[in-house]
Amino acid sequence: MVSDAEIARAVEVLRRGGLIGLPTETVYGLAADASNAAAVAKIFAAKGRPADHPLIVHLADAAAVKDWAQSIPGYAWRLAESFWPGPMTLILPRRAEVLDVVTGGLETVGLRVPSHPVALRLLKAFQGGLAAPSANRFGRVSPTTAEDVVRELGASVDMVLDGGPCQIGVESTIVDATGEVPCILRPGGVTVEAIAARLGVTPTRPRSDSPRAPGRMASHYAPETRVELAISGTLASRAIAALSDGLRVAVLVDKLPAELHPERLGRLTDRLVHIPLPRDMEEAARRLYAGLRSIDREACDLALVELPDESGMGAALADRLRKAAGQGDRMQ
Ligand code: AMP
Ligand code: MG
Repeated sequence: MVSDAEIARAVEVLRRGGLIGLPTETVYGLAADASNAAAVAKIFAAKGRPADHPLIVHLADAAAVKDWAQSIPGYAWRLAESFWPGPMTLILPRRAEVLDVVTGGLETVGLRVPSHPVALRLLKAFQGGLAAPSANRFGRVSPTTAEDVVRELGASVDMVLDGGPCQIGVESTIVDATGEVPCILRPGGVTVEAIAARLGVTPTRPRSDSPRAPGRMASHYAPETRVELAISGTLASRAIAALSDGLRVAVLVDKLPAELHPERLGRLTDRLVHIPLPRDMEEAARRLYAGLRSIDREACDLALVELPDESGMGAALADRLRKAAGQGDRMQ
């Protein structure tokens, strides 16, 4: 458990312009005082992140939205009421005072009230907004435990609060709330179905050629191991072909298909690594990043995974798997 003394020390660190490893229900964040430009600049330096990428500002409650955003549509308040605290970020027109280093120079700001009790305790004690992207180096897998943060950014963070493993495991749903209808920029812990049910309208998705720049450019991302999306039903045969070529192969799947059992594979089984990815989508999301990290640790040459059905949490899972396979947006 994180003690009150640790929270008080973290507040001190933030007030002095330092960086905190922050547990949230999605992934661990790298947090700085969002109203201190020098502190926010340290986030970019620590992550090696390009300066034009906007950061999400974390708030203690929905009432604080007014300090950061203006002209907030009614549907944004309804979403905030239903899904905050929780894994949903609202993109809103920013107030003039919001720092350019936080918004990446955009006229909008991303806001979220996280539900992790440690994050909420820190936000309440700090009494301000915390800019916090995921606590990983740019382009790498997001951390889902305090140990991951220490391993990834240990030298550049002043203090890591250990709030245990993340309950959601993938980043927040990003809802662009600057238009007449909400637009889902990134699927995440709050499902599109839940948003549609709450509002009675189906949110839009950005056109794939839309220039809405930040975080949306197709690009490569680590794990260092190549991740390949297997066509449904072909995972086992693809794995056998790669194993026969001498590769060390990871398969991310709930249960090993019969063709990949040791008695069928013979000697090839030595080069096969099974990384369990549960059928239950919420459980799979929770375990995904630990699974991706273990692919590199196991020194595999290739990782194979089938895309899940893209309903509910499956949409977020499929999105992150595409990114892991180098298709779609960059991971930050
Ligand atoms: P994260 O990596 O979870 O910190 O999320 C950061 C992502 O949130 C960015 O890459 C953008 O996709 C999105 N984002 C944050 N702020 C804004 C903004 N002002 N306008 C558009 N997208 C934003
Ligand atoms: Mg990130």
